[in-house]
Amino acid sequence: MRIILLGPPGSGKGTQAQRLVQRFGIVQLSTGEMLRAAVAAETPIGLKAKDIMASGGLVPDEVVVGIISDRIEQDDAKKGFILDGFPRTVPQAEALDGLLKHKHMELDAVVGLRVNESALIDRVEKRAEETRARGEEVRVDDTAEVLVRRLATYRAQTEPLIHYYSEKRKLLTVDGMMTIEEVTREISRILHAVGAVESKPSKKPAPTKRAAAKPAPKAAKSVARTRPAAKKPAKTARKAVKRPSGAAKKAVKRAPARAAKKVTKKRAKA
Ligand code: ADP
Repeated sequence: MRIILLGPPGSGKGTQAQRLVQRFGIVQLSTGEMLRAAVAAETPIGLKAKDIMASGGLVPDEVVVGIISDRIEQDDAKKGFILDGFPRTVPQAEALDGLLKHKHMELDAVVGLRVNESALIDRVEKRAEETRARGEEVRVDDTAEVLVRRLATYRAQTEPLIHYYSEKRKLLTVDGMMTIEEVTREISRILHAVGAVESKPSKKPAPTKRAAAKPAPKAAKSVARTRPAAKKPAKTARKAVKRPSGAAKKAVKRAPARAAKKVTKKRAKA
């Protein structure tokens, strides 16, 4: 299974990726984590990325594309992967398409986490507090000020990917405002529905089993291959996928202004 998690900072990509790793036994490839490791190790890439990351901007496309290209070649990624934080720009998405094509790999789905932006600042502040409470170092970009800039970067450079993948019929949108557990359940449900998850022999009689029991050789074939079998349920899942409506788009666009106000208020209070 190869999927992308898409969503603004604080939308829960990292949390969900870790949970999906446990559920499906595939690896999480987080460009943010990789870049933070490079910064900590003071590698040439890290030195290049450090200030850009701290200011809420994006590291150059060729740098992250190079990192991902090497990473998906490694053995542990052969079974599948979850891309978390990549791609973040249309050129990165195009480069990824090229990489996957070259490696004869296919992308199963792009899971877009839809969140109310006004909640993001609170989430990020909470994450910083919890990290501090554990005695760990807080991310330098996990401050309200930088978050506002990261959100602006997201809107300008990453949000167009929603359109990019929805045109390619890869986008599945999930409500990221539900509880962590509910979001995981919903992601798993839609991944099963589009056939991204290879069905394991289950204890319960699954509908595919009934198809397998049919004597016609055609039916047996369609069970063996995941793609054709996946086609039908995809329709149902796509129904559940909400394209951003005009109103929703407006709400997303308006939210940063509110978020920014909130920060100002908070800072004024402090
Ligand atoms: P978040 O999703 O919470 O904003 P990440 O941990 O994914 O944070 O990324 C942290 C920072 O690393 C980003 O703000 C950006 O500077 C850099 N970064 C991560 N992934 C990419 C990418 N694909 N392209 C460019 N920069 C990236």
